[in-house]
Amino acid sequence: MIVFFSKSEGQPAARDRVVALARELGRKARSLPTEGGGSLRIEGPPDPAMARWIAAIPGVEVVLPLPSGPARVLRDPSAEPHRIRVDGLEIGAGSFTLVAGPCAVEDAEQMLGVARAVRSAGADLLRGGAFKPRTSPYDFQGLGAPGLALLARAREETGLPVISEAIDETSLAQVSGVADVVQIGARNMQNFALLKRAGACGRPVFLKRGMSATIEDLLMSAEYVLSAGNPDVILCERGIRTFSNHSRFTLDLGIVPVLKRVTHLPVFVDPSHASGSRDSVAPLSRAALACGADGVMVEVHPEPQRALCDGPQSLSPEEFASLASTLRRLAPLFARQPETVS
Ligand code: PEP
Ligand code: MN
Repeated sequence: MIVFFSKSEGQPAARDRVVALARELGRKARSLPTEGGGSLRIEGPPDPAMARWIAAIPGVEVVLPLPSGPARVLRDPSAEPHRIRVDGLEIGAGSFTLVAGPCAVEDAEQMLGVARAVRSAGADLLRGGAFKPRTSPYDFQGLGAPGLALLARAREETGLPVISEAIDETSLAQVSGVADVVQIGARNMQNFALLKRAGACGRPVFLKRGMSATIEDLLMSAEYVLSAGNPDVILCERGIRTFSNHSRFTLDLGIVPVLKRVTHLPVFVDPSHASGSRDSVAPLSRAALACGADGVMVEVHPEPQRALCDGPQSLSPEEFASLASTLRRLAPLFARQPETVS
């Protein structure tokens, strides 16, 4: 288990109490090289009851029941902030990145049209799925390889780097041959064989949080990619399942500041899949910027009402242009630099 302390004068006392409690329970505690003594690792298997007692000690900020062993995913304050370079773009470390594009690549007119539109609105990265993990086998599954070829054309024409999802090991080989960033979707977040392959694919990985994944699950999935030799992982909160039924999923913005505290990896937010509704995308994107996210991923379609996938949550190009301009103006207020100023 890893215990993070809040930055306060009471930190030494809180540390002493945690170390004493761990000792009483027969566990060893040792400092971790994270944030100037601000964390401890308690050896041994995670213990939910112990985690609850420790979390109740004043001055303890977060208890992560991570298993023992190396944890490359944890922040090392002595290291430089982690920047992920994609073409000329720098992700993380003070920038606010806009990823935009359709849920699925549908045809040349749609893909090239939306690519031009989001480029001129100031997007930094173009998204588009060629392989779609759909709930129903009868729904549009994506164009496959021809979809990737259209993405490559869109990149050539606009200069925008592209991100696309791999749904299995076969599509991973195809996607990583074309896309600048490989997405692993919520449904595959714990496909460990795929994560290991993604760790060796030579591209940054955009890892979306599973819809029922805890923070430990997400961090350990990132650890699979890191431990396979790929340091470039972007985490994405995209909504989780809760009892709420007013939106498609529940956007858990509360995970953003916690992730920013415990890991050096960039953290993005996807308000489109979280809400399922275009009206919520702009407010949730502003909230994502305000709570510390390094970027947002937003679905945009030239004609949302005709989209083959996720039309109700897709912004029109005009709506995206307005959102991008708002976020660019707000970014400096939240100590972030917009990547693109058009
Ligand atoms: C997507 O980004 O197209 C997607 C399917 O997202 P998620 O995996 O978050 O559902
Ligand atoms: Mn979608």
